Amino acid sequence: MVKVQPVIHYAPETCAFCTGNGSGRCKDGNIYDVCPVCKGIGTLLVAQTAKKCAFCSGNGAGQARDGYVYDRCPVCKGTGWAYVFEGEIENM
Ligand SMILES: [Zn+2]
Ligand SMILES: [Zn+2]
Repeated sequence: MVKVQPVIHYAPETCAFCTGNGSGRCKDGNIYDVCPVCKGIGTLLVAQTAKKCAFCSGNGAGQARDGYVYDRCPVCKGTGWAYVFEGEIENM
């Protein structure tokens, strides 16, 4: 048996929480100097091919699949994406 490690490519995708602004009014209704989800970058590294979070339909917040309204989606943490690179980029 040869084990094949899947190679995951990441590419920057727009942060749903701040809609790519990096600051200002975010999806939870608060105004941030720095978006707490993308740290003000406006984009997040998302595994390709990028897939929107099914729970919040990629909105990052608002009414989700369970009928509740969330300030920040508990599944994607507000990113709006299903598979986001977590960790420090420096450690890659
Ligand atoms: Zn953001
Ligand atoms: Zn979500």
